[in-house]
Amino acid sequence: MYSREEAAKKIIESGLMLVERGLIARTWGNISARVSDTEFMITPSGMAYDKLTPEMIVTCKIEDCSYEGDIKPSGEKLAHAVAYQNRPDVDFIVHTHQLYGTVAGCVGRSLRGRTDEEKRILGYRVPVAKYAISATAPLGRNVGECIKKHPESNAIFMKAHGVLCMGKDAEEAFLVSKTLEKICRDLIRKNLFMSTASRVIPAEKLPEWSAADLVDTIKQVTGKEHVAFDHSEVVLRCSLLGRTLAPIIDDMAQIGGVSFVSLDPLSEDFMLLAAEELLQKTVVFIKGYGAVIATETEDDIEAVSIVLEKNCMAELFAKAKGGAKHLTRPDAWFQRRNYVKNYSKLMK
Ligand code: 13P
Ligand code: ZN
Repeated sequence: MYSREEAAKKIIESGLMLVERGLIARTWGNISARVSDTEFMITPSGMAYDKLTPEMIVTCKIEDCSYEGDIKPSGEKLAHAVAYQNRPDVDFIVHTHQLYGTVAGCVGRSLRGRTDEEKRILGYRVPVAKYAISATAPLGRNVGECIKKHPESNAIFMKAHGVLCMGKDAEEAFLVSKTLEKICRDLIRKNLFMSTASRVIPAEKLPEWSAADLVDTIKQVTGKEHVAFDHSEVVLRCSLLGRTLAPIIDDMAQIGGVSFVSLDPLSEDFMLLAAEELLQKTVVFIKGYGAVIATETEDDIEAVSIVLEKNCMAELFAKAKGGAKHLTRPDAWFQRRNYVKNYSKLMK
């Protein structure tokens, strides 16, 4: 168990480390530590990891998540609380939206460690908690059910969302997160390269259109100042599907919007159509080119591209393996609205 001072320090250090290693982005994810038989300390909701101070780490009751003071604890406090209730051996928890772990969890299948060492670290199996919208009581309950059913598992997939990694201390929880990421990375790379033939269009076959004109049109119509192209392989492959894609992962609905069309750059009024799409959303696919991202700040461009590439990888992995579902429109809408109105404004 951690003292309060140690817990606050470890939580802050861990946040910085998780960001540095690319296991969490922006203010997503959350970290907690058990500080007494009845309490745990957890990161505040929606705060940037590099701005956290010990005073901002919130103490919650394990029993009912109640807390004192004005700082709102993480929206996933219930998922952490149920873990402390059911796992007396766990004193530190990290919830991440790590790339490969999140993508692997989308298909809803549990996974096992490959070697004895990996099995020992993960607690043999990584089960999947049933889907519920991020930061809600139903999600906390689903995570709780999963932990009760698999009390030996140190990591849990939160379907279409991320992973929860538990350990007796911060080092162990980190090792769980890293080990899981490695296994999922190998699994995904193997599957994507085996089952998705590259259909990249040779440059000479691409239609003529000017990227600068497109950027100007988007800026004029949307009033957004930052426009960028994402040509990464997974995004390019998704653009080639040539159809409208709903988000597969929660954070894509939040930062991106509820659906993403793939426009044909040869079609009439293509630039205007792209700009209109970007009024309500941050991403539009261009068939054969990848995607255009439009946001109000430069920081947002990077965050959208991280989440977009993860979502596209999930789309392709789901096609290869089956089992993943797109978010329903109401679930995506709810999260998009909440993100725009509330969550994105918390970030300091
Ligand atoms: P918080 O910022 O409220 O911890 O939420 C982040 C998150 O990952 C929700 O699932
Ligand atoms: Zn999350």
